[in-house]
Amino acid sequence: MQLKCSLCGKNYEFVYIKDEPLPAHFPFCSKRCKLIDLGKWLNEEYRISTPLPDSEELTKLEQDTFSEIQEETLLKLIKSEKDTE
Ligand SMILES: [Zn+2]
Repeated sequence: MQLKCSLCGKNYEFVYIKDEPLPAHFPFCSKRCKLIDLGKWLNEEYRISTPLPDSEELTKLEQDTFSEIQEETLLKLIKSEKDTE
């Protein structure tokens, strides 16, 4: 049967034989396409698991701002409580 390689879009002939293992490059037209696809996935994973220094600094900044706001809110609460007394 004719199959289309999901990487390069090339049509290729795939012969399914019952009880036979699938070809090593399945579902791509060749081993090369399968390796390229695998490499793309690995690159993506590498990018995601590597923390960016910029975002790390941003998180720290956000945390600092958050604790500042919390302190302000606490001070206001304490002040307002005193006012009602
Ligand atoms: Zn291909």
